[in-house]
Amino acid sequence: MVLFFGRPKRCLLGTPRSEVPEGEKRGRTSTVERLPCYHSLTYVRGMAERVRRMVRSELGTDVAFSMFSKCRSLFSKVKDPVESDLRSCVVYNIPCGGCDKSYIGTTKQYVKERIKQHARDSRPPIKEEGITALAAHSKETGHQFRFDDTTILDVHKHHGKRKMLESLHIQENINNVTNRRSDVANLSTVYSALLHLHARKKKKRRSDESRNTGNV
Ligand SMILES: [Zn+2]
Repeated sequence: MVLFFGRPKRCLLGTPRSEVPEGEKRGRTSTVERLPCYHSLTYVRGMAERVRRMVRSELGTDVAFSMFSKCRSLFSKVKDPVESDLRSCVVYNIPCGGCDKSYIGTTKQYVKERIKQHARDSRPPIKEEGITALAAHSKETGHQFRFDDTTILDVHKHHGKRKMLESLHIQENINNVTNRRSDVANLSTVYSALLHLHARKKKKRRSDESRNTGNV
């Protein structure tokens, strides 16, 4: 279910081509006003309104909220789960065996194939150039990654959206990953600010919980 603020659903998806005036299709100026477009966002109380303000000021567009629970969540899952190393189009996390950092990456291949490549690239002698941040970390420190403990963080078939998810996970764990800063260079300031806000809230919640536990 989506809250539309009184706008038609088609506004969420941009202006359909059939509704673009003929003059605009041919590159001519048109006097017909375009329909307003919205970003769809899952509603999270206490945070959604702040995100909408940031999107409005940074991107100049508006946000339409969608509900967290979808109809499909009411139905039981009948498909067998796919083994994690046979999943593809994923964002994954590989922990380092020598320190508390990890490497976050994305691939459209099977995870097990990508892990094999990482293991090969991080085995001495490691190349000097053109290597991943994972191999660079092994080269600099001599640490070996725990490839068997790889976890899947996200799954998305769309390449651009998967890259965005990868950047978000790296940014969220920026002090605990071996990834390069350039991996998050293209992340919008909106998302960076949102993650910063989320991290602050999480930290505050943890400190409140530990204070309450200490008082018991
Ligand atoms: Zn390490």
